Amino acid sequence: MSFPTRSSGIADGYEMVRAAMVDRLRNHYHIADTKVLDVMANLPRHEFVPEALKAQAYKDNALPIAGGQTISQPFIVARMTELLELKGNEKILEIGAGTGYQTAILASLARKVFAIERLPNLAAEAEQRLRTLGFRNVTLKAGDGTVGWDVYHPFDAMLVAAGGPSMPEPLVRQLKVGGRLVIPIGEGQRSQNLIRVTRTAAGYTQENFGPCAFVPLIGKHGWAAE
Ligand code: SAH
Repeated sequence: MSFPTRSSGIADGYEMVRAAMVDRLRNHYHIADTKVLDVMANLPRHEFVPEALKAQAYKDNALPIAGGQTISQPFIVARMTELLELKGNEKILEIGAGTGYQTAILASLARKVFAIERLPNLAAEAEQRLRTLGFRNVTLKAGDGTVGWDVYHPFDAMLVAAGGPSMPEPLVRQLKVGGRLVIPIGEGQRSQNLIRVTRTAAGYTQENFGPCAFVPLIGKHGWAAE
């Protein structure tokens, strides 16, 4: 069955392609969280991609950004967000902010987002972009997110948008009991499984949501820099 998406509130010339993206997320990829779909229906993804790629911003794939990195495919952004099961009052840690697109979605669905991006130029651009778009509940820094952000822990939820070889121990430690962490983990640098960790009093449980492909998570508890 196919449901038409409500038209988006912003008139910026991208209404049709944005609505088509959200229809695809709902009907083809079975994203069911209506809050996630509504946020994506109203967020100008074209503002987050390089100028030359604006026309492709709502397509069904990842796109290259500066520093050899990528802005994730809309589906994977929606899926990871949905897996966090946000209620609205969370304090979130995001690692691998990139363009800030995922950051903006999290900031729309939670109370506060602390975001870390390894590459300083991407971090500076993302911060500027989020400010211009009016986000006031994001604190973003350049640095290695695999060590977490100790001064602001514990976090209710965490999202890691780059693939690591194993679960970074500091992240699990900085997660609240009952909190969720979504992260791609894989033995190879370019293919992973999407893992959701739920912190328990005794340790943590893990669920596997299948194969995915992210850029490498580089840092102390990730892959070594080349
Ligand atoms: N969610 C982003 C996707 C960015 S791709 C978006 O919507 O645009 C993943 C990002 O993770 C890259 O920008 C890369 O530089 C960053 N990254 C890799 N290792 C990291 C680390 N240890 N800490 C923080 N960011 C990291």
